[in-house]
Amino acid sequence: MRPEILNPLFSQTESITGVGPRTGLQLDKLLGARVIDLLLHFPTSIIERQIVPTIISAKPGNISTITVTVKKHHKPHHPRQPYRVKCEDDTGKIDIVFFRAKPQWISNILPVGQKCVVSGLVETFGKDLQIAHPDYIVPENKRESILPIEPVYPLTEGISLKKLQRFIETALSLLPDLDEWLDDTYLNINGWDTWKASILKAHQPTCTNDLDLSAKWRSRLAYDELLANQLALNLIRLEEKSISGRSINTSIHYRQTVLTNLKFSLTKDQNHTLNEIDKDMESSTRMARLLQGDVGSGKTIVAILAILNAVESGAQAALMVPTEILARQHYETLSEILSITDIKYELMIGRQGEIKRKKLISGLKNGEITIIIGTHALFQEDVIFKNLGLVIIDEQHRFGVHQRLALTKKGINADLLVMTATPIPRTLLLTEYGDMDVSRIINSPSGRGKVKTKVLPIGRIADVEIAIKRAVDKGAKVYWVCPLIESSNASDLVAALQRYESLKYMFGQKVGLIHGKMKSDKKDSTMYDFKNGKIQVLVATTVIEVGVDVPDATVMVVEYADRFGLSQLHQLRGRIGRNSKDGTCLLLYKSPLGQYSRSRLEIMRNTNDGFKIAEQDLKLRGAGEVLGTKQSGFPRFRIADLDAHADLLSKADKEARLIIKKGYLEGNTNKGKALKLLLKLFERNVTHEKFESG
Ligand code: ADP
Ligand code: MG
Repeated sequence: MRPEILNPLFSQTESITGVGPRTGLQLDKLLGARVIDLLLHFPTSIIERQIVPTIISAKPGNISTITVTVKKHHKPHHPRQPYRVKCEDDTGKIDIVFFRAKPQWISNILPVGQKCVVSGLVETFGKDLQIAHPDYIVPENKRESILPIEPVYPLTEGISLKKLQRFIETALSLLPDLDEWLDDTYLNINGWDTWKASILKAHQPTCTNDLDLSAKWRSRLAYDELLANQLALNLIRLEEKSISGRSINTSIHYRQTVLTNLKFSLTKDQNHTLNEIDKDMESSTRMARLLQGDVGSGKTIVAILAILNAVESGAQAALMVPTEILARQHYETLSEILSITDIKYELMIGRQGEIKRKKLISGLKNGEITIIIGTHALFQEDVIFKNLGLVIIDEQHRFGVHQRLALTKKGINADLLVMTATPIPRTLLLTEYGDMDVSRIINSPSGRGKVKTKVLPIGRIADVEIAIKRAVDKGAKVYWVCPLIESSNASDLVAALQRYESLKYMFGQKVGLIHGKMKSDKKDSTMYDFKNGKIQVLVATTVIEVGVDVPDATVMVVEYADRFGLSQLHQLRGRIGRNSKDGTCLLLYKSPLGQYSRSRLEIMRNTNDGFKIAEQDLKLRGAGEVLGTKQSGFPRFRIADLDAHADLLSKADKEARLIIKKGYLEGNTNKGKALKLLLKLFERNVTHEKFESG
């Protein structure tokens, strides 16, 4: 429940005078649908209006406020001509000019003989001075209403600056006084105002410095946002840990069997990580561990060995992945590895039919199924486990925090291991995962081939096709990734279909197609054919982005690579170079390439180090984008800039922990209440027993 005092902030922008359904939609497109969104839409520059005492001192090119006397109206003879209003003072003349304006309106606002204050861009027209469509025209006694400095906001079609300024002005008048959640001393040290005063300041800049990321109002608001986020995360973490864990012994029998049958031996990093997991599982507190390892570093086998711990202790394990293709692939890996054991494992995905689903559900409930691999389907309420001991989430960055919690809650005290190949920079680690324990696989298994990346304009696609043909003739396996068109999967599909058709001329039966909209068994058979070499060129949408493992694929073509995120390109490229053979990745871009896109593709060409790529990506795009905004559980930061406010983040995190440790959120103290307000204000709506009871 949202406290009443916040209601005005979270009502629709349409509650503001002048905002109708149409404007509401336009605003929504620009900044969001609610009053709070207006308030958090900060100015990005200012207009300084030079006050000009006399016309003679007005400088063309400046935005100026001038007092003039209206002399004469020149109506246009032709609709394309402007309407000119001749004005003057003792020192000179200036025209006020309108194109396609209503004559009636003009004569009302600029009556002949009256003194008016006009403000706008002064231009020259021949030898004359003019202001076309002034921003302001007011009678002399209202000159105060023209501010010397006004905020300029990012705009969208249909919303003029003036309109937006007015809406925001109204929104500001709705700002409630909220009880302070920060300590007085902390406010004083930083020279910060209250939350309300800071929002007001944001919209009343007096110089460009007031717009800086380091401006006091912004630091205060950024700190609030970060504090809310870290509080929420730490509460979730507390919840995950508060449930006392169970002790799961490290598997001896199954592990032995599996390891002796494995085609490779574990790397040092894999062993080390596994040790950390074993220890966590053995201890009686709950495991909450993040396993970070670059694409191809070999996380899956570590996950499977952890699962065997649970199985040998008589518990169930769930492995959740973001895509069906990945679920099936893991299922197959399990089939290979566990074929020599008696362990019962199953696959649960979205479209399996009612009968199969019912069977799975009863199998999990009565404990017949020991390991379940699945997609989001595992979240559903009717999925109940008899004795869930371990939850593993692969490619965690694709899921949100809330989804992570939903699955954990199914096993009263299940251990949790989340895995991600997206190298997460330190700041993001903190804001996304709180204080989860982290294991890292730093070095991938040795003997991997090198992947060379080339960046080419799409105009050279004919050359690319010839090169691919040569590679295919020599037996290479190729991923051909089709462009990401907007965010709509449907049009991505069209591009993939077209490419598939055109590549068929060259490769005939050797080319296959895979995309998200395909039936599961078709996807399966296509992946199977690619694995076994019947297909050598696999045209794909981004469904193959995460986790797909066809070790002997060595070539990748990415069309319109400039449209992909860096981390996404890194993930994609991670599909090749997975065995000892060298690989080639061709990134095709549409020319001309802007400076920004160029530097992004350069990064891809220069390094294969996922960590470096993520850091650069963070620098170039800002934190919100790096992990993929859509799937994440929490709203992204709107105020805080993780680069500029990194020090605030670590302070906010410290304070959040202290708040939780001291139990400020429990009970009914003023500070506790204010902090809960903060969480609601930033929509970090965590449910926590202690928290709700307060
Ligand atoms: P990711 O970390 O991206 O999930 P995978 O677990 O899919 O990577 O492993 C990538 C490939 O490396 C797989 O084909 C896997 O069998 C292989 N692999 C994993 N561990 C080792 C190892 N220690 N030595 C050799 N190959 C390994
Ligand atoms: Mg993987």
